[in-house]
Amino acid sequence: MRSPVIGVLALQGDFREHLEMLAGLGVDARNVRTPEQVAACDGLILPGGESTTIGKLMRRYGVDQAIRELHAAGRPIWGTCAGAILLSREVVENDVHNLGLLDARIARNAYGRQTDSFERGLAMAALGAAEFPAVFIRAPRFVSVGPGVEALAAIDDEPVFVRQGNLLASTFHPELTSDPRVHAWLAELARA
Ligand code: GLN
Repeated sequence: MRSPVIGVLALQGDFREHLEMLAGLGVDARNVRTPEQVAACDGLILPGGESTTIGKLMRRYGVDQAIRELHAAGRPIWGTCAGAILLSREVVENDVHNLGLLDARIARNAYGRQTDSFERGLAMAALGAAEFPAVFIRAPRFVSVGPGVEALAAIDDEPVFVRQGNLLASTFHPELTSDPRVHAWLAELARA
């Protein structure tokens, strides 16, 4: 069976780090910028960066519609940080051009200035016993999630990594660590 193609949306943000992590796993990973390139993927990553900028560019290039179609086709899509914002149904007090696929309400830059960025070891049973080294950078927070959204990891009962069907969203950045477990999982979902 051919190996799955994982696209990394490369309009803005830390897409290179995602690509390197996937390449290290031997996954066929590609930067994608056009609707055609998105449509050719078995799975997709929306990276961290600036959700306002990525949202505008997605719309300008017609990539937003292509991502909705990929989702409707049942392909796995994972958003990290800004990517999680873009996937969410509602962004608190903001004019982000979000995709609205994930039944969640999310607030941007929501940990406040004192904790601009931090690292936390997270229990993540779905990925095995070892704690996951989660890096948060100007991270958003899920204010509320719908009943069909499963929390895969949480801090003080607040979800920071969620799954809804073929959608994954983390408010932190696995691509900035040396732990490839989430990337490997996405490739596995794309293969299924
Ligand atoms: N603060 C950014 C935003 O609101 C997200 C930060 C990140 O992706 N690291 O889009």
